[in-house]
Amino acid sequence: MYYSIAIDGPAGAGKSTIAKEIAKKIHFIYVDTGAMYRAIALYFLREGIDGHDTERISEECPKIRVTLGYDGEGRQQVFLNGENVTPFIRTEEVGKMASLTAAIPAVRAALLDLQRDMARTSNILMDGRDIGTNVLPDASLKIYLTASSAVRAKRRFDELKAKGTDCDFAQIERDIIERDKQDMEREIAPLKKAEDAVLVDSSELSIDEVVDKVIAEYNKIILPE
Ligand code: C5P
Repeated sequence: MYYSIAIDGPAGAGKSTIAKEIAKKIHFIYVDTGAMYRAIALYFLREGIDGHDTERISEECPKIRVTLGYDGEGRQQVFLNGENVTPFIRTEEVGKMASLTAAIPAVRAALLDLQRDMARTSNILMDGRDIGTNVLPDASLKIYLTASSAVRAKRRFDELKAKGTDCDFAQIERDIIERDKQDMEREIAPLKKAEDAVLVDSSELSIDEVVDKVIAEYNKIILPE
């Protein structure tokens, strides 16, 4: 039997930073499902397809194969029809296209089986928007990680500034709110807290504090009193 941990939450809540850290500590395989939606979005952008064109996107889906691998240091790499596209998916443009096209049923169906299969063959920690509610409804532990939009925008702003990118705080916060709305209001697999998920608000917490909180929840499961 394998353990699975689902971490869901809005953009910029720190899911991937936290998830990577925890996976390393407890020796689980980390699966970043957002990267899979981003890889598909990159395909549509490269093909010049309109993100609102549901019909065309649904037709294209059978031509797209997204797979995951891990480099020598255990970092996830995402492949689009065999090409490692990991370096190209972390842009705002790809993020926006991912959020738009993730609302299309054919896109979600293309990734669901792959995500579920991974949980059948190893201990995994998977992060995304619908892991606890839809992909792994029987996950051993579910976490809903959130933070206020102002805190999430500030983190993103600091990250971009550190990279030397010119950016506007108010615009970043507007983008975050818009992405939340898109992810929470879509008809299929919207972002929401699973009833049995533990809510963690990271607004006032450090990375280490969040990591410790989640590991404490995990220990309750593997070391029941
Ligand atoms: O987490 P990340 O920002 O990389 O995700 C990009 C987009 O992919 C999200 O805004 C969301 O629309 C979509 N996504 C999803 N379901 C997941 C993971 C990501 O719909 N499990």
